[in-house]
Amino acid sequence: MMSNVRVRFAPSPTGPLHIGGVRTALYNYLFAKKHKGVFILRIEDTDQTRYVANAEKYITDALDWCRIPFDEGPGKNEKFGPYRQSERKELYEEYANTLIKKGKAYYAFDTSDELNAHRKQHEEAGKTFIYNWHNREKGRLVNSLILTEQATKKRIENGDNYVIRFKTPQDETLILKDEIRGSITIDTNTLDDKVLFKSDGMPTYHLANIVDDYLMKISHVIRGEEWLPSMPLHVLLYNAFGWDAPKFAHLPLILKPIGKGKLSKRDGDKLGFPVFPLAYTNEETGDVSLGYKESGYFSDAFINMLSLLGWNPGTEQELFSIEELITTFDLSRVSKSGAKFSLDKTNWFNQQYLQKKTDAELALLFSVILKNKKINSSESYVEKVVSLIKERAVFVKDFWSLSSYFFKTPEDYDEKASKKQWKEGTSVLMNELIIVLASIDDFSSKTIEETVKSWISSKEIGFGKIMQPLRLAIVGEMKGPHLFDIIDMVGKDEAVLRIKKIIKTLS
Ligand code: GLU
Repeated sequence: MMSNVRVRFAPSPTGPLHIGGVRTALYNYLFAKKHKGVFILRIEDTDQTRYVANAEKYITDALDWCRIPFDEGPGKNEKFGPYRQSERKELYEEYANTLIKKGKAYYAFDTSDELNAHRKQHEEAGKTFIYNWHNREKGRLVNSLILTEQATKKRIENGDNYVIRFKTPQDETLILKDEIRGSITIDTNTLDDKVLFKSDGMPTYHLANIVDDYLMKISHVIRGEEWLPSMPLHVLLYNAFGWDAPKFAHLPLILKPIGKGKLSKRDGDKLGFPVFPLAYTNEETGDVSLGYKESGYFSDAFINMLSLLGWNPGTEQELFSIEELITTFDLSRVSKSGAKFSLDKTNWFNQQYLQKKTDAELALLFSVILKNKKINSSESYVEKVVSLIKERAVFVKDFWSLSSYFFKTPEDYDEKASKKQWKEGTSVLMNELIIVLASIDDFSSKTIEETVKSWISSKEIGFGKIMQPLRLAIVGEMKGPHLFDIIDMVGKDEAVLRIKKIIKTLS
């Protein structure tokens, strides 16, 4: 058993959480709980230009709905807090200065015009511009030469804009270890001297992220593959500070259903399925994107589906409760290659979870829909209806179209079925059937069935001749569960009324 496991989910509040973000949170949570560790929520809001005011609330609401509770985070168990980077602002400058003092970082005064000119120059020569020792030491970037301490001081006093850059070591080979991807070898000459601290007095993601992971005693960094290119810098930063680096695990991308390309935030609207856990309103444009919740998915089904998007339990089992996920989840079984999202599979999970719910639970959910339709039925009636139709439903919202005839007389009749089932003579037979039904005292499914069937037999006609038009009369189309169960449910008077109505309409 691993001890002192502390992991974090560190979203930037730049908009709604994408399902990839939810999966990252989930895997962190499962890993923490499996090892009796701590799951932390940290809000990485140092990029002021991309900050969106309602995003943090969205993130916590989404984690709530998904039932992925954090142990430490904004407003909760703030032992290592604050957990919003904007509230830890002062701290980062000190760490940037530490690196300067250690000779591991330096002030750079390049203007963006200068940088662009260098970039262009390189491009024209067919080379990629890397801001590191090539230019730094050779002095091609005139202004960003690592200036003497005095000269630097002078420029700062002068009010010149500067950033603090990491001084990437030259000619080193880094061997990185990723829990999912194994060893990765990197030549440090291919790395940029990344900016650690910006002219607006804010740290960049890289500095804040490393400092916080260190101060919050993070044992494992589990995050999306898009952060893999940052890993060399992060490891170098740990080395530069003289700190032990946490273990890293980079999760595979979630791919579009066609299996190619990352499932992006915009794909939801394009491909017609939600990519967000909850609905999100873009405050600038007013556009609303649907979420899984509003689309009728159960959060446990959604989570079960996500758990398998990149992780293979190693068995045939597909349905996992959260407790089972906690015991079974294992980083070593997370795949390196992208995981293809499938809407059919997602719906299948929802259907499975729906079938597992009790009729009482489902009836309660359905009664909200019924109330909106101004239908008043007893709890036990709704429960019975649910038990008869739920098998065919993927969502609770499917219940109404599967069962409306339990609550109201059909308004019209399926055209094709009417043509096929309503023949000459049907009206006469239906009128006789009314008399048969009216004569039944014990109006229960079983007795109705026995009575009607023996009547049909006595007439020596095919069962279909009665049963098909009868279904059309009761249901309005040729679907639904056992017909005598439905007749029992709607009751004698209503059944007779429906038969009279169809005779009138179709004759
Ligand atoms: N703030 C980063 C994000 O938005 C965190 C990446 C990481 O986990 O290191 O995903």
